[in-house]
Amino acid sequence: MNSGQPTITFLIFFLSLATTTLSSSDQLIRLPTDHLFCESWKYSIEANDAAVWYVVPERCVTFVKEYMNGDRYRTDSEVVADYTLEYAKTVNVSGDGKDVWVFDIDETLLSNLPYYVNHGYGSEVFDEKAFDEWVDSAEAPALPASFRLYTELQQLGFKIFLLTGRSEFQRECTDRNLQYAGFTNYEKLFLRGDSDLGKLATLYKSEKRQELIDEGYRIRGSSGDQWSDLFGFATADRSFKLPNPLYYIP
Ligand SMILES: [Mg+2]
Repeated sequence: MNSGQPTITFLIFFLSLATTTLSSSDQLIRLPTDHLFCESWKYSIEANDAAVWYVVPERCVTFVKEYMNGDRYRTDSEVVADYTLEYAKTVNVSGDGKDVWVFDIDETLLSNLPYYVNHGYGSEVFDEKAFDEWVDSAEAPALPASFRLYTELQQLGFKIFLLTGRSEFQRECTDRNLQYAGFTNYEKLFLRGDSDLGKLATLYKSEKRQELIDEGYRIRGSSGDQWSDLFGFATADRSFKLPNPLYYIP
């Protein structure tokens, strides 16, 4: 028995050494590939864990390109629209015309993907002049899932308000683009006026929602691709975040 004791001790030592070695190599094998890293990065930005970020990391440009152009973006958007409608159908829409839904515009109703295809999929610093020229062209297509949602919410009896970070001088081209994409019969389009310039989107959008509430509207739901579309005060009863790995607006 005594003679076996050193052998057992040695075996335990050897096994613990082997486990440590295996664990280290396992960690080496599990070093994140670009795809794995970018999936995790996307989770963190969508959940707002990353908070403010400026450009898509270089190693994730291909990932974002494939996401935005592939089935996944479309599927994510469709699933968000499904959950949104599931909730909307539970709202008791009264006949007084005061039950409203607030939509953001860019990357919520309209897709600026044709612009970002030519601007590095969010990996370049925002070029205001170039983006304004794109907005002025009024050629942004509708996001299919949001078009379905928009149409069905109207059929359910919600009044639609549009609340965008675009500026007042872009009203005509924005309205033209909305009509071109099929977003018609909305109640009102809010754009940034002179007194809103320089405000963070969260504050500007909260103030506009407050105006609606002060006018007696009940904001039953809100849809946006940025947390700044949804956070702040005077928030909707339910808020729905659409995917957007291209840019972040505080
Ligand atoms: Mg947006």
